[in-house]
Amino acid sequence: MHPVLADDLSRLPALLQIARDFAAKEVAGIVERPVARLDGRSEPAPLPLEGIGAEGALAGFAERWAPGFSGSAGPRYLGFVTGGATPAAVTGDWLTSAYDQNVSGGGDSSATALERETLGWLRELFGLGEEHSGAFVTGATVSNTVGLAVAREWLGEQLGIDVSRQGGAALGPVDVLSGTPHSSIGKALSVLGIGRDRLRTVPALPGNREAVDVGALATALDALDGRPAIVVANAGTVNTVDFDDLRAVAALKQRYDFWLHVDAAFGGFAALSPSYAHLIDGLDAADSICVDLHKWLNVPYDAAVQFTRRQDLQVRVFHNASPYLGLPTDEPDFLHLTPENSRRLRALPAWFSLMAYGREGHREIVERNVALARTVGERIARAPELTLSAPVRLNVVCFTLTERPTRERVHALGRAIAASGEAFVTPTVYDGTHALRAAFSNWRTTEADVERVLDAVLTATGAVTGEAGP
Ligand SMILES: *Cc1c(COP(=O)(O)O)cnc(C)c1O
Repeated sequence: MHPVLADDLSRLPALLQIARDFAAKEVAGIVERPVARLDGRSEPAPLPLEGIGAEGALAGFAERWAPGFSGSAGPRYLGFVTGGATPAAVTGDWLTSAYDQNVSGGGDSSATALERETLGWLRELFGLGEEHSGAFVTGATVSNTVGLAVAREWLGEQLGIDVSRQGGAALGPVDVLSGTPHSSIGKALSVLGIGRDRLRTVPALPGNREAVDVGALATALDALDGRPAIVVANAGTVNTVDFDDLRAVAALKQRYDFWLHVDAAFGGFAALSPSYAHLIDGLDAADSICVDLHKWLNVPYDAAVQFTRRQDLQVRVFHNASPYLGLPTDEPDFLHLTPENSRRLRALPAWFSLMAYGREGHREIVERNVALARTVGERIARAPELTLSAPVRLNVVCFTLTERPTRERVHALGRAIAASGEAFVTPTVYDGTHALRAAFSNWRTTEADVERVLDAVLTATGAVTGEAGP
């Protein structure tokens, strides 16, 4: 063994203690860490010839890289839809690395059964029945890709084509219909060889909505003359968190032949609250479902879950048959269900967080985030220089400048907010107008944080519009 490696091995408990102390300091400091670091790069260093051991590596990291890391896991980072990591989730994540299980097959470890237990809990959390089976994947983009891959296989089944053998081209052009799809749907269609251009957007409901007009969807399906299609329903759009009427969309299956995939990346968490669960009514009727976990479950990157009612088709797409792996059984190993073969035990952080805080603890996070988003929405609506782009439906506040919301001015406002180090929001275009989004999905965020966010937003607005601050 290399002497430095041997030395690290001999003092492993001490090294883990040093890492623990460092992490504890950094995590405790996250509330005051600048929310975004726009200048945190370090020049690339040469590949080390002689190593310096784990403690030396930690010192080098602490000096050169850690200062540039953002507070994106903290309470006032409101960009995209960004969760943090609950204490229990971090514990689970550390142990995931410490145990380093490969959850591809189940033969030699209980880790596979732990992933299945966690999947069962998540299924219950989102109100799904036993017919839905699932797997952990790295994020909602991959979850959507898996769901649409199963959809593509289903299209083949409808047309008498084995897509996994004959290739997607055998299907000919595929019809994919959706109201306000997330950008990852286009990416998934590109990866799957269906093609980004095959995604057709169906009009949304009138009146500042992003939810699909189900009547227009029916018309679009009707025009396919019986050709089977894929419908992507959206349960929580990123700009205004609007929800397609999942029950009404699913009811169209009685008249038309389509696979229903639901992108519930973060909107799925509405199911945790009796106040918002109605938004996601009908989710169980979906053929495949995507839910992100590194967003509103507040587990560390990278984790999401996918569910489907057709595990048999999923195995057809993803099975990895070889003499030493064998063919999938009734309870297929995860390597036969996901794009990955070797897999991290990314169920463990979720298992820890659900074990530690339960359904109620996670419900409280969701409801607090929504309440805080509403507070911010009300205060922004009262500021004459700012305008809400849409009502705050759940956990995202979409707003813009009242006067001249040009790209230049709105982006300048976003940069000024980030430069304060106090809050971070991301630019978007909503209904043809440049706007900013503040998304609340972090377990730490409190009312005091909201005051700091509002101060930062209103001061930056004053600077951009030339008015005095608050
Ligand atoms: C975030 C998001 C995605 C993509 O999620 P990743 O985890 O970044 O891959 C897909 N759909 C929706 C609705 C999202 O909010």
